[in-house]
Amino acid sequence: MSRASESAPRPEGEGTATAWARQELESLLARGLRRSLEPLESPQGPLVRVGGEVLINFASNDYLGLAASPTLRAAAAAALEQYGVGTGASRLVVGDTRAHQRLEARLAAFERAEAVLLFNTGFAANTGILPALVGAGDAVFSDALNHASLVDGCRLSRARTVVYPHADAGALARALKETPARRKLVVTDTVFSMDGDHAPLAELVAVCREEGAALLVDEAHATGVLGPRGAGLCEELGLSGQVDLRMGTLSKAFGALGAYVATSRPVVELLLNRARPFVFSTSLPAALCAAAEAAVDMVEGDVPLREKLWRNIRRFSEGLRALGFPAEPRSAIFPVLLGEPEHALAAARHCRERGLLVKAIRPPTVPEGTSRLRFCLSAAHTEGHIDAALDVLRGLRGSIHG
Ligand code: PMP
Repeated sequence: MSRASESAPRPEGEGTATAWARQELESLLARGLRRSLEPLESPQGPLVRVGGEVLINFASNDYLGLAASPTLRAAAAAALEQYGVGTGASRLVVGDTRAHQRLEARLAAFERAEAVLLFNTGFAANTGILPALVGAGDAVFSDALNHASLVDGCRLSRARTVVYPHADAGALARALKETPARRKLVVTDTVFSMDGDHAPLAELVAVCREEGAALLVDEAHATGVLGPRGAGLCEELGLSGQVDLRMGTLSKAFGALGAYVATSRPVVELLLNRARPFVFSTSLPAALCAAAEAAVDMVEGDVPLREKLWRNIRRFSEGLRALGFPAEPRSAIFPVLLGEPEHALAAARHCRERGLLVKAIRPPTVPEGTSRLRFCLSAAHTEGHIDAALDVLRGLRGSIHG
């Protein structure tokens, strides 16, 4: 029996793909996994307008509150005037500008790296870098909780992929010893995007050195948050010089869009030739490059801004612990675990009805049984915003399962 004949009769004139989509959407809905869009009616910020309501925003990765800052807007506006909107082609064709080159030079100085290469998004960076470095006959070792873009980068590379248990450097060492391969590459988030915890970076560096493996880290949620100059967990631990490739995003603490990899000159040259999202995709608008360059100055130079973020992180973490939730001040990300998707959705509704925008995170973003609310803090939150969130969570406490 064909699959089409198993399903309910199609409405008159409905296309085949539409019928497939209907089946899949019904299944997602039944499992509490269907997602939908909700447009903002305001810029990003600690308060956002959604559906006519003003809500305290705990859903954004705009950790330093830069996305709508006057400095970034002015930098983007000036470059928009100079270069226009689109770049017309990939950078290797005619889409390279002085704004791209300046941003790379600024990021290389910020990262204290020999060379930096820009990508259009973090997703493009991770899916481009892995297949450019490893392929058939090689092996990639990937943390079990790595971001989807690293997971897809592993798949696209066609290297053998070994998933090691989350943050377990001992298990990684064993896997490296047991797996024969031409080249071995270890990949990990430094701050995990849905849990906010850290990779055991010093141990990973030591294991990689011992086993002759290269190390690629994703600092998306660490850049602008950790390190004395905001250059991430590698900087915080003094390990920047010992990590082969450090990828960072411009879309989170930098308040813009895009990503970069800080590495050696030969690796940048290889990526520029081989990383498919770099070679075959139109480059970032110059206006975004200019905004990101202004953001690097703010991330590095505005130490009080980062200190404000950390005061908020500590206040929220202490408040959560006082309410009996496990919480550590390790990053700007705080998961409140709820278990099943419906519980996370109910908790998000509870928060929303009380003025908080916080999202229910469900599979496949997180493993089955670990659906959660994900609170993201910003330097732009006031103490009043943090305390309001804690009050709402106090009300939620009694009804939490799992
Ligand atoms: N890596 C990690 C760890 C992320 O959390 C994200 C995005 N949420 C990305 C990469 C992708 O970055 P971008 O949004 O710039 O594509």
